[in-house]
Order: sequence, then structure tokens, then C-alpha cells
Amino acid sequence: MFRVEMLPAGHGDSLLIAYGDPAAPRYVLIDGGPYYTYRNQRFLKRHALSHRLEDLARQGARLELLVTTHVDADHIEGVVKLLGNWPPGLEIGDLWFNAWPHLVEAPDELLGAEHGEMLSGLIGLKRLNWNAALGGQRVAAPEVGDLAPIPLADGLQLTLLSPRPAELAALAEAWEEELRLAGLDPNSPEKALERLKESARLRPGDLLGAPAPDPQALDEEPCEGDDSPANGSSIAFLAEFEGKRCLFAGDAHPDVLEASLRRLARQWGEPRVRLDAFKVAHHGSGHNLSRELLERVDCPRYLISSNGSYFGHPDPAAMARIILHGGAEPQLCFNYRSEENEVWDNDRLRRDYGYRTQYPAGIIPGLAVEL
Ligand SMILES: [Zn+2]
Repeated sequence: MFRVEMLPAGHGDSLLIAYGDPAAPRYVLIDGGPYYTYRNQRFLKRHALSHRLEDLARQGARLELLVTTHVDADHIEGVVKLLGNWPPGLEIGDLWFNAWPHLVEAPDELLGAEHGEMLSGLIGLKRLNWNAALGGQRVAAPEVGDLAPIPLADGLQLTLLSPRPAELAALAEAWEEELRLAGLDPNSPEKALERLKESARLRPGDLLGAPAPDPQALDEEPCEGDDSPANGSSIAFLAEFEGKRCLFAGDAHPDVLEASLRRLARQWGEPRVRLDAFKVAHHGSGHNLSRELLERVDCPRYLISSNGSYFGHPDPAAMARIILHGGAEPQLCFNYRSEENEVWDNDRLRRDYGYRTQYPAGIIPGLAVEL
């Protein structure tokens, strides 16, 4: 089996991969969503990440790998909560996360961004394996040479596409600056851990109304790219199991993904990288999904993780690009039904443009996709 589940993570990402023997699957968790993904979901307590992981522990399953793609709150907060409230008995093999020591070649004494420091502090406290598959070094795609897969237990293979060392170096600057603004003292990881209790994470933003979608017109909007260093530092990879492939893009930059996919295609002598699913970057933001990127893959399913809050993801232009450039009959798979995404649940549009949609079946958010 090879199943990807987009957990209900609000405007963020939390993806649970199950693979291997269906009777005793192995698991990989990518991101923990914003803090409330982990617990305290008033109506959805049973579906909180904590409960899912407690269930896994009870079944004797283990997390082969926990990937924190980058330091943005909508990916990292749930992981900070997880490490601070670890489900009893849950074993973990490795944890991938690029923190301050991994951003620069020769780290100086400065600390990193607040959430990153909190997570670093917790990993240290708990003495977890940290980027063990990379020998403790940064999780990054090499600048030159082949993109080699990293093997996990039972045959799952992960090929890193993002970040490259350059994206990590770019985050280093922002990390220092953010630290200064946060008033954290250098050389004081304790202080970052203190902040855990009061972690303010509410970011401003307004809900965008849902414009009437016109894929052709939307497709004319250029993809201007993403200039956020945090997003650029996202760990993104291709996961392969028994011939099935899923691209997990974090919030990575489209040009970085495109360049890595170009390298892979060349390496494999294929015109496009064949995929079974693509968890699109940055919750379907128009800044992170270019036509050029879509033209590098041959993929029937696009996974979009967001409830639409704060940033109004997914962007109509990104959905239009998938519909027009995402293959013969692309399927848009949403882990919520939201004001932003339900405009695509439209028979006329589906007929005219030849695409399919998948939403959660009932009122409970979250979507599992069998590859
Ligand atoms: Zn995000």
C-alpha cells in the first residue's frame, strides 16, 4: 500500500503517508500544521493529530520519519506541540529539519528564528535522531551531480528536490533578522523554549472572496514566484514506493522545484517526471505553481492542503493552471471544502475544461488518497 492522507490542518500542512504491508503499515509524517492541528479541535477531537498518533502507538506502529519542511507556523507549530506532548509509546526513526546549524556552512554563534529555535530545543531535549539519514547534515538537494534517492525501511525512497544550499543560505539572513525582532538573546536556547508557552502565532490577513473562476482569464496572470526565504527553505521530495510516486512540495519555490525536476527528467532520460500525485507547494498559492513547473510533470492528481483561512488558499490562478496545464484530466483533491475551493465543484466547469474534483465525503475534513 501507498496512501497519502491530508490531515485537517487548517490553512497549513500535515500529511501522513502509510506504506508497506497493509496489515502493518509504516508511517511518515510531513509537517504538523498550525498548533490546533495537534489538539483542541473542538468538533474534531478524534481527528486531531495527537489522536491519530496515539492510535498508531497503540497499534505498535512507528513513525519511520518526521519531516518538518520549514519554519513557518502553519507547518512547524504542530510539530512543536507533538514534541512537547509526545504520544506514549510512539517510536520514531528519524526527524528531518533544517535549523540554524544547517543553514550556513560555518555557523556562528547566532540563534535562529523563534519557532525553529523552539523545535531545535525540543529535539535536543528529547535526544531524537536529527537528519540522521543525512548523517546529521542539512536536508538539501546537492547543487551538482545526480539527485540520489534516500532509502527508508521496506523500500520507500525519497529524492530531495528542495532546498538547495542557496535557499538555506537565504533563510539564514532572514533567520538572524527575525531573531533580532523577536528579542531573543543569542546563545540562549532556554529563552526560546520559554517562549513556547506564550507562542503568539496569529498572523494578519484577510479572507479573500471567491471570484467567479474563468480558467482562461486566470491563466493569463503570470506566476510571479515566491520570495519568502522560509518557503524557499522547504524540504521537498519525491517519495517512491512500489513504482508509485508522490511529490511532496512543502511550500517550496516553483523555480527550485522546476530546476530539480528538470535534472531528474534528464537523469532518467524522460521528457517529464511521471507522478501519481503532487502535493502542490504552499497550499495552492499562485506564487508557487507555475505553468513551467506543471509542464515538468506528468501527473493525474493534485493534492491541495488548506481550509482557506488567513491567506485564502488555494489561489484561483493556481487551480486554473492545473486545470489547463496539469495533464489530460487532472483531479483536484482538497482536504477541506471551503469558500475558496468549492467554486471548482462546478459541473459546467468540469465538463468544459475536463477536470475532476475530490472533496471530503462528509462534514469531517481530511482526505486520504490511495496511490
Ligand atoms: Zn505553508
